[in-house]
Amino acid sequence: MPGVVAIVVAAGRGVRMGGSIAKQYCRVAGRPVLSFSVDALLRHPRIERVYVVIGEADEAMYRDAVAGLEGSKLMAPVTGGQSRQHSVLHGLKAVGKKEDAIVLVHDAARPFLAQALISRAIEAAEKFGAAVPALAVSDTLKEVGEGGLVKATVDRTLLRSIQTPQAFRLNVLAQSHDAALGAARSDFTDDAAVCEWAGHAVHVFEGDADVFKITTQPDLEKAEWTARRLFPTPRMESRSATGYDVHAFGPGASLWLGGLEIPHERGLVGHSDADPVLHALTDAILGTLGDGDIGAHFPPTDPRWGGASSDIFLRDAVRRISDRAGRIVHLDATIVCEAPKIGPHREAMRTRIAEIAGVSLDRVAVKATTSESLGFTGRREGIAALATATVELPA
Ligand code: MG
Repeated sequence: MPGVVAIVVAAGRGVRMGGSIAKQYCRVAGRPVLSFSVDALLRHPRIERVYVVIGEADEAMYRDAVAGLEGSKLMAPVTGGQSRQHSVLHGLKAVGKKEDAIVLVHDAARPFLAQALISRAIEAAEKFGAAVPALAVSDTLKEVGEGGLVKATVDRTLLRSIQTPQAFRLNVLAQSHDAALGAARSDFTDDAAVCEWAGHAVHVFEGDADVFKITTQPDLEKAEWTARRLFPTPRMESRSATGYDVHAFGPGASLWLGGLEIPHERGLVGHSDADPVLHALTDAILGTLGDGDIGAHFPPTDPRWGGASSDIFLRDAVRRISDRAGRIVHLDATIVCEAPKIGPHREAMRTRIAEIAGVSLDRVAVKATTSESLGFTGRREGIAALATATVELPA
């Protein structure tokens, strides 16, 4: 299969929009218009390299638009020329000579580029050498003369409106552009027209109404609505659950509490490191997911967890939240014991828990209380910990 490269033409000034920012850098759904199609092209498995042709003064806006999309497939931006045709030529020059490659040329002002449309474009170029996405025309078309006089009704059944990405064998497009340059022709409105003029057969394939071009202010508003339909932000719901854990005192010179090793005259007995705070927090998070408890995921009968550091359990529970596209909103723990004193360790404990859970410090609370010498904690037989986790999950 031939390699596929894409050229995104983003050098236009978009003067028809009337605004001061070129349309490809306007924001739709909070994202620069250009980023949508570049992202779509980078994600397509057949596309090996993406070249974006930008205006001379637009480097900073370009960097902002592709922030987070950088990778081995996104090539350095190419500076455009004085017309769209020249810009494509500069793009082709950057691509270089790869005789059997397929090249897609896409307008940056068409953000909503579906993976299926890219696939159709590649297939059509492989089959025909030059092909463009086309839509049937639904409006009745009239030829109008002077004074607004209708001269004829045009037969629309043979007419198509043409979009991008336009797809070509690289040599077909490169030769056509070179020939046009040699003939000093620079009045073509799309790449297919250059190929047609150079004598190549151009075919059409099925276009996509969503890949419309943003030209006017109303187009930008339409793009907002289209983005909401194509990329809905999931509605989040809040969930809270509690966890509770106890470990008995036993021989030792230190104990683990809230992810810290604290020197103490006794240790805590357990299969793992016996940290009741991290265990209660783990159970609280698992509770928000309705996904069992720490014992179900890390059975004490499994020798792998013998002496295990309990941050493993908490990290696993947090991962289950991110696997569900959720996030931790708040973690709250209360430690019940007569000793050791928690106050001196509270901030370090919060910091450690925040670090393990991957949240900011203000989302973690650690509190402590004695039980007034009552019950097993009061008799200094062990330490209890209670926890509440609050998370957000897609509804
Ligand atoms: Mg435990």
